Amino acid sequence: MNHLNIRSALKLRIEHNPRQSPRHLYIGASEVGTCQRSVIAAKIQRPDLDPASMGRMLAGRALENEVVQLVRAALGSKLRDTGRVQREFEHPTLPFRAHPDGRIIGEKGDGVLEVKTASAATFKRYQSDGLPQHYLDQVQAQMGLSGLGWGLVVLVSRENLAEMMTFHVTFSPDHFRFLEGRARKAAPYFEDSACLPPGEPDRGFCFNCPFALDCPEHQALRKAGEHGEVPEVIRLQLSAQVEELGIVESQLKPLEQRTTELRDQIKSTLTNYMIDKVNLDGGTAQMVTSSRTSFSAKDLQREAPELYSRYLKTSTFTNLRITSRKGVSPCLPTAS
Ligand code: SF4
Repeated sequence: MNHLNIRSALKLRIEHNPRQSPRHLYIGASEVGTCQRSVIAAKIQRPDLDPASMGRMLAGRALENEVVQLVRAALGSKLRDTGRVQREFEHPTLPFRAHPDGRIIGEKGDGVLEVKTASAATFKRYQSDGLPQHYLDQVQAQMGLSGLGWGLVVLVSRENLAEMMTFHVTFSPDHFRFLEGRARKAAPYFEDSACLPPGEPDRGFCFNCPFALDCPEHQALRKAGEHGEVPEVIRLQLSAQVEELGIVESQLKPLEQRTTELRDQIKSTLTNYMIDKVNLDGGTAQMVTSSRTSFSAKDLQREAPELYSRYLKTSTFTNLRITSRKGVSPCLPTAS
């Protein structure tokens, strides 16, 4: 099997789960809360994923299966409808379906199980901010379509399986009606694939959307953004974030100064009393000597300018510069 065969086998595995109906025929619970234009465009155009993204998706799914097994070990016979017997729930009139990772038998009624994996950074964000809106939409859609009254979301860090969090979600009929409304709006596009619904940049998925170039709503926003025009709601959100950043940074400065002071005081005490290491109640304080070999680019430029210029590389960075009425905050590199 050459690498092209392997690639198409991976693509087939991602696009089609033999236990579920073909995904291009309906809107899934995980898709109903995201931008409808990108969801339907992906079903019609089926863009090629790069091998790294395919690998990440398959690895994520394999890990989710692993976590389902861990939940099964914890819940025993209380966990049903997983793996080979995973259920598909279908809306009675709309092309709208859900495939929860399992059903948990509860004393006051059953619930859905949904397993999610996240990078360590995303895990931390969800830990402090709670589940993102599109996960809540997914679980509400699963509960509404399956008729179950509650959901358990198990979130696991991909870098460290021991980092695991659970979220309990209760069914909200209003939320489900809102999602049904979205699925109803998307339904005609499954029959007429010649056109696409309008883009929904406010859903927050434009950053890695493969259809961004052809999306009128995204392009209009980009153009407006070039002239500093942003929707009022985004402007207000940015204003609040910039204001909070200013407050946090002003609180940070005294802490940084105190950190430096304390380190200097500890260092000078150890040096004055010629102590290498001391055991304390809360840990140890130790003077560690280390050496570092550095390369002087300036010297090389002076000694061998031609060689130096041959290996010069130019990198481009995009920096965030925030100007407040009090001045300019330091530039923070955001991308390279
Ligand atoms: S660019 Fe944004 S609004 Fe446009 S289709 Fe993609 S996700 Fe939707």
